[in-house]
Amino acid sequence: MPADYHSHTPLCKHAVGQPEEYVEAAVAAGLSEYGISDHAPCRPEPFDEWRMLERDLPEYFDWILRAKTAAGSRLNIRAGLECDWIKGCENFIAGLSAKYPWDYLIGSVHYLGDWDFDNPKWLGKWAETDVEAVWGEYWQTYAEMAESGLFDILAHPDLVKKFAYAPAGDLDRFYEPVIEAIAANGSVIELNTAGWHKPCAEAYPAPRFLELACSAGIGLVISSDAHAPQELGRDFAKARRLATDAGFRETQIFNQRRRSSEQIRG
Ligand code: ZN
Ligand code: FE
Ligand code: FE
Ligand code: ZN
Repeated sequence: MPADYHSHTPLCKHAVGQPEEYVEAAVAAGLSEYGISDHAPCRPEPFDEWRMLERDLPEYFDWILRAKTAAGSRLNIRAGLECDWIKGCENFIAGLSAKYPWDYLIGSVHYLGDWDFDNPKWLGKWAETDVEAVWGEYWQTYAEMAESGLFDILAHPDLVKKFAYAPAGDLDRFYEPVIEAIAANGSVIELNTAGWHKPCAEAYPAPRFLELACSAGIGLVISSDAHAPQELGRDFAKARRLATDAGFRETQIFNQRRRSSEQIRG
């Protein structure tokens, strides 16, 4: 199975499990590598209740070291973060990026203004929202994140569909400008399997987005977004088929922010 680079730790306060349990799950799933990418700190602190604090970073690296010890020579362990793309966050993220030996950084859009739109806590807000306008704002924000050049991997591209609110008709008008921005910048996208377990009941991104991304030469990783050990590598066989149906023949791997690729097999 491909590497799984999107996974969480209890430091974000909504994930469970010990590093040793994640490593055993990764080995059992046959992952080529296991990457840890918990929700990164944001300023001003406390920013919200679903991420680590800056002072947790040493403990985060201890957690990653425990995973490396548990894995031994069985599995490569990679160190990353899932960073929130928020207006004015560039310098802070560039600082985090320079200060620690990351293998990769993931960029995510979970916030539009001060609304973390994927948080089930605010689900009611969606019912009274202009979906077309929110989608427009989401994809523009996503393109700006791609253009920042701060991230190796761009997370769950169409997370905005999570609660199954989407504009009617052809969505290419949203996809095309953002795919152009990603292709121009060189970061890779995620095929994130968590979407299959949300109200949208579809992996992120939609098959059509994957096809367009593949045609544009954008690289791919397959990710589970695990918040518990048993979720590592979840639905990867299904995801692999989706990726090859869209035209992908390889997925990307990262080591100290250098990218290479591995064939999609099986
Ligand atoms: Zn999370
Ligand atoms: Fe996320
Ligand atoms: Fe995540
Ligand atoms: Zn995520």
